[in-house]
Amino acid sequence: MPRKIDIEALCAEKGLRITEQRRVIARVLSDAEDHPDVERLHERSSAIDPGISIATVYRTVRLFEEAGILERHDFGDGRARYEAAPEAHHDHLIDVETGNVIEFVDPELEQLQRQIAEKLGFRLVDHRMELYGVALDRKN
Ligand SMILES: [Zn+2]
Repeated sequence: MPRKIDIEALCAEKGLRITEQRRVIARVLSDAEDHPDVERLHERSSAIDPGISIATVYRTVRLFEEAGILERHDFGDGRARYEAAPEAHHDHLIDVETGNVIEFVDPELEQLQRQIAEKLGFRLVDHRMELYGVALDRKN
């Protein structure tokens, strides 16, 4: 994501009660640039506060997601992955071998999608675009 989003501040804005453990998880999420899953979030959070259980991470991401603070993605491997709800739209390319996620924005693609919706009689309000690929220059 292009700019760090302050999840803690968003929680305050939305009136969510912020416990010390939630604050740690919120900071880990704000710092993440890799669309982490719950296990990875738990690794990072419990490195800061060993008292944070994976159940707490699950509950917290669900709470943040319901409040519209987090966006959940399913990149095809069955693990939910999270990022702070972005201020500006972007799409994702997923490296199927490593699980790495690359963010991109393509104005022509955005335009094309609007045109397709219009042709079908709709005004586009949202979309999700996920590309799955293998790096061309990866050596075996
Ligand atoms: Zn993203």
